Parts: sequence; C-alpha cells; structure tokens
Amino acid sequence: MNYSEIKYCDIANGEGVRTSLFVSGCRRKCPFCFNEEAQNFAAGKPFDAAVEDVILKSLEPEYVDGLTLLGGEPMEPENQRGLVGFVERVKDRFPSKSIWCFTGDVLSELEEGGRHHTEATDRLLACVDILVDGPYVQAQYDITLRFRGSANQRIIDLNATRAASAERGVPLSEAVCLWQDDPVFSTHSM
Ligand code: SF4
Repeated sequence: MNYSEIKYCDIANGEGVRTSLFVSGCRRKCPFCFNEEAQNFAAGKPFDAAVEDVILKSLEPEYVDGLTLLGGEPMEPENQRGLVGFVERVKDRFPSKSIWCFTGDVLSELEEGGRHHTEATDRLLACVDILVDGPYVQAQYDITLRFRGSANQRIIDLNATRAASAERGVPLSEAVCLWQDDPVFSTHSM
C-alpha cells in the first residue's frame, strides 16, 4: 500500500486534534473528487514500518485525540490489507484514542456479501470508532456540514452501532447509530 500524505495536528478530519493518513488508491471516480491524485494506487510513497512508527510516535502526546484514515479509499481491498495490522497496533497501544475512517462505501457494502467485504474488513472495522460512510454527491453538497461534504454521508458511531447490533441480533448496517456532535457545532448556535 502507498500513502499520499500524512497530516499532523489535523483538526479538519474528525473530532479534536488528530494524525490523518491519506492512503493512495480509489476506483470510485466520484465527479468532483476532492483528492484526485490519491485515486492512483501508485501515488505517494510506500507505507512501511518506519512510517508506521512515525505515526505511532505522533499519537503519543495527550493533546492528540486519535488517528484518521482517509484517501483515496481506505476500504479498497488492497488498502484494507495494508492497513489492518497497523490499525490493530494503534488500537492496542492507544486504546483510549479514537480511530475515524472515511470511506465512499456505505456500511452494508463492507459487510459479508458486500462488494468491499474482504478477509480483513471485520478486523479493520473492529478497530474503528467512527465511520464516515457513503460517496461524495455534489448535488447534496452542504457547506454547513461538519466532517462530511454531502448530506447523504453519515457519521456512524460504530461502538454504539456494535452494541445495538449485538442487542438486536441484526447486522451493523441495520443498527446504525449516528455520532452525536456537540450541539454548538450541530446547530451552529452558542
Ligand atoms: S471516494 Fe473519495 S477519493 Fe475516491 S473518487 Fe470519491 S471523492 Fe475521490
């Protein structure tokens, strides 16, 4: 797997202060893609052990709230395989820090039988706290939305969703619980 960029102290891609990893490669080709150069799987640099260690180090300070995965498309099958071991390392070392993941897939596409379900998906999703799902749709663009570009995209609280899924005995996609933003941001009022 290659990555195109790492942003440190990022406050635009998830709650709080984060390290954001932009992986390379996406086959979706959305019109008006916000990051066209990252569609190329060969773009950027190899994601190797040294890069993993730099990111882990960046997560150490108390003021850093967690890691964000985006791209490109973290849920392309080859990127899932490239990420899963690393994300498990992050979760193991920093269990109280959150992991956000942005994907153009909807959650049901990542479940068994879905187009992007692989042998790595369940392990990867098990480490993710917040999944921002769905493709960017220009017709539903809304500048007032936080952490997403278009209204069809959902910010899913995967921990609450897992609990609801287990309680009701249904797949995650049938038990979706949305992340609750701070009212100051969700209503744009003080
Ligand atoms: S899913 Fe994201 S990276 Fe892929 S084409 Fe769409 S906007 Fe671009």
